[in-house]
Amino acid sequence: MSDTTGDIAASHKIPALCGNIIGGETYTQGDQIPVICPETDEVVTHAVEADDETLDLAIRTAQETFEQGEWSKASSDHRQKVLFRIADLIEKHQEELAWLETLNIGAPIRQSETRHVTRAVLNFRFFAEYCSQTSGDAYYQQPDYLTVVTREPVGVAALIGPWNAPIALTTMKIAGAIAFGNSCVVKPSEISPLTAFRVTQLLLEAGLPEGVVNLVNGRGGTTGAALSSHDGIDRLSFTGGTATGRAIMSAAGKNLVPVTLELGGKSANIIFDDADYEQALDGSLLGIFSNNGQQCLAGSRILVQRSIFDRFVADFVGRTNNLRMGSSFDRRTEIGPLATKSHFNRVLSFADLAREEGCEILTGGRAADGYSSGYFFEPTVAVTPRNDLRICQEEIFGPFATIQVFDTPEEAWRIANESDFGLVSYVWTSSLETATTAHKAIKAGMVLINTPIVRELRAPFGGFKDSGVGSESGASCEAFYTEQKTTVIPMAKPNLPKLGSEA
Ligand code: NAD
Repeated sequence: MSDTTGDIAASHKIPALCGNIIGGETYTQGDQIPVICPETDEVVTHAVEADDETLDLAIRTAQETFEQGEWSKASSDHRQKVLFRIADLIEKHQEELAWLETLNIGAPIRQSETRHVTRAVLNFRFFAEYCSQTSGDAYYQQPDYLTVVTREPVGVAALIGPWNAPIALTTMKIAGAIAFGNSCVVKPSEISPLTAFRVTQLLLEAGLPEGVVNLVNGRGGTTGAALSSHDGIDRLSFTGGTATGRAIMSAAGKNLVPVTLELGGKSANIIFDDADYEQALDGSLLGIFSNNGQQCLAGSRILVQRSIFDRFVADFVGRTNNLRMGSSFDRRTEIGPLATKSHFNRVLSFADLAREEGCEILTGGRAADGYSSGYFFEPTVAVTPRNDLRICQEEIFGPFATIQVFDTPEEAWRIANESDFGLVSYVWTSSLETATTAHKAIKAGMVLINTPIVRELRAPFGGFKDSGVGSESGASCEAFYTEQKTTVIPMAKPNLPKLGSEA
């Protein structure tokens, strides 16, 4: 490890083993999966894989906790109080959690602090507020009858997360599920179990009853598959790749378990020649290189209008070459290593593919020089002649931007929509007309005008097409994690016909 890493390492503890936390107890028996630091290629600890028996125990515990009612029947005021305490505790441990996240996935430490852990705190504060304000509906359409619609928690939610932003994404699922009274079984990615493990400990410390959140570790094909096909779950919320999403939806579908799927993306980032040039340049760099390019909502397909194309490409490449790559524990670092060796090899293979497909790689496309360990990949910019190439259609999930020219707005919308994905789109323009047309023309769950990502938790976040099913937000989570119940009460004794009363 670099000196910087060593200094920080001295001040934080890596869990000796990430066990499975069920009903407040930590279970440490089972196969051990190595947890590897992407910067040093060293095994820093292990996660214990939950076998079928351990998984059954986790689901049964979640069910029993739900039935017992300490949490599921608690007042929303009580739940709110506990969720606020959780948020405060995560905030108190911000430095430690950010460090664990960086150690595990290589996200630059400043991003781990200001984006990932901050989001985790916000997730719990948001749902604390939200759950205390939910109410039912009452109808009086038939004047003699009062019809009341209330919402009840559904039971046990299975929550399966990815490795690229574990703490931010997993806490969104946990907060959204437990705010409405559910219990859950959480399975983080086997690649990145550290923060989910630590957060589960903090949930208990904050006073969440044991058994409300149960953590199981394990690989996707084993623990993940067993969890998604288990008949003891009532909801399944998944964030990860599109192929996995298909497998999960089909497994859960056999038990008629509703799912939300937050999947991959290949988002267009469209720059018109009337845009605020510097803003568009800054935003485009952030859009593709944040989190080392490993983000579902990366603006990975950059489309630039012809009159500013050459200037933009030159400036974009210049700034890309200036990105500060280095140890993710160094607060000045802007680009760190990719999360795993196999992912590094995958991203590298896309550079070969780009060359084969006739793209011009203007910078990057190879392992970064000067690193004796770790998965450092040079930030890459390739100019692509057409949008139907695999390089423009497949999610690379790394610091790898493609740039293509366009002439008219219609052409930009066509290229943006020429994709199986439909997660996000970014548009840079000073024209209100172009902005409003983009809003109508682009088929994506989110259209961001003149800004990189801004996440408003009241607004749904979810993808069109192969980017997802359902969405996550206050209202979407309320709808997903609760069941509606209609109760009809007569206002006066109904005058019922007396069937069978006449001889
Ligand atoms: P992945 O699909 O490989 O794994 C995600 C999770 O699913 C992991 O916990 C894994 O163990 C589990 N899993 C794998 N196979 C499984 C199976 N057959 N049954 C049940 N569970 C299984 O995804 P990843 O590589 O961890 O994450 C990267 C992907 O996630 C990218 O495609 C990215 O775009 C997507 N993502 C989407 C969003 C979003 O909000 N739309 C956010 C972050 C990441």
